[in-house]
Amino acid sequence: KKGLNKTRENLTNKIEKIIVGYADIDEDLLDELEETLIMADVGVKTTDKLMTAVRKGIKKKEINTPEDLKPFLQNEIVKILTAGEDTTRIAENGPTVLLVIGVNGAGKTTTIGKLAAYYKGQGKSVLLAAADTFRAAAIDQLEVWGQRTGVPVIKHEEGSDPAAVAFDAVKAAVARKVDMLIIDTAGRLQTKSNLMQELEKINRVIGREIPGAPHETLLVLDATTGQNAISQAELFTKAAPITGVVLTKLDGTAKGGVVIGIKSQLSMPVKWIGVGEGVEDLRPFNAEDFAKALFG
Ligand code: GDP
Repeated sequence: KKGLNKTRENLTNKIEKIIVGYADIDEDLLDELEETLIMADVGVKTTDKLMTAVRKGIKKKEINTPEDLKPFLQNEIVKILTAGEDTTRIAENGPTVLLVIGVNGAGKTTTIGKLAAYYKGQGKSVLLAAADTFRAAAIDQLEVWGQRTGVPVIKHEEGSDPAAVAFDAVKAAVARKVDMLIIDTAGRLQTKSNLMQELEKINRVIGREIPGAPHETLLVLDATTGQNAISQAELFTKAAPITGVVLTKLDGTAKGGVVIGIKSQLSMPVKWIGVGEGVEDLRPFNAEDFAKALFG
């Protein structure tokens, strides 16, 4: 599958290389396996979990030969990935509101553009809101995506109150009977308390106008940053109740194991993956497909 080739090469090829080097399962093999999982950015805790499962599998004779390891691991990873709800919450009546958060450069604006195109492609009406008022460039960039996808953008001037933009956007979304409202937010983690207050205020305003909104708070993370993406996610959970992760730039990294780490360590479902810079390069995340892609 396009976009995951590097990830696949990394994890599968390495596991295969290890496996062919051993006639029987022994401690050296398990050590090598453990190291490989860690190197693929699965994360230390999750690797521990997987290795515990492997050792149990060996005891219970579910794993008898090195060849049994690959399907066993694949199955365990699917179990981790498929735990819990991971579909997008859609409002029954009125607009579904998606709040998109993440640090600058993670691919937030690009993801919003791709989401706009995705929902338009499903025949839904879409409205974008430029509530990252901190950078003029962010507003302009969202505007470009709006034009590219034929979707209107609600915006104010640079430096204006993000919650005021959100307020206008929800009002407009309700008045225009829009299906999907996607709100861009500022991503300045260095001023964490400000960001927290800003997101809280936006959430309050949205929830007042549309009960139950935002229906999703999506955290955009750059997969190429590996374990840093996980640390960032931990910080953002303190600023907003995140309902799902968009993992971008999976086409440019061998660190796809980070998907497993996010799900297992943070109990956050990965809902979308970005596999390129183009408008079509966003996929709803499917755990089984992903595990299959990982293991070839
Ligand atoms: P923002 O600052 O978070 O809004 O980030 P942008 O949306 O501006 O994206 C930053 C850079 O990452 C841009 O050059 C995008 O084209 C690029 N980008 C975003 N998503 C992906 C992806 O899934 N794959 C690749 N290869 N590049 C991406």
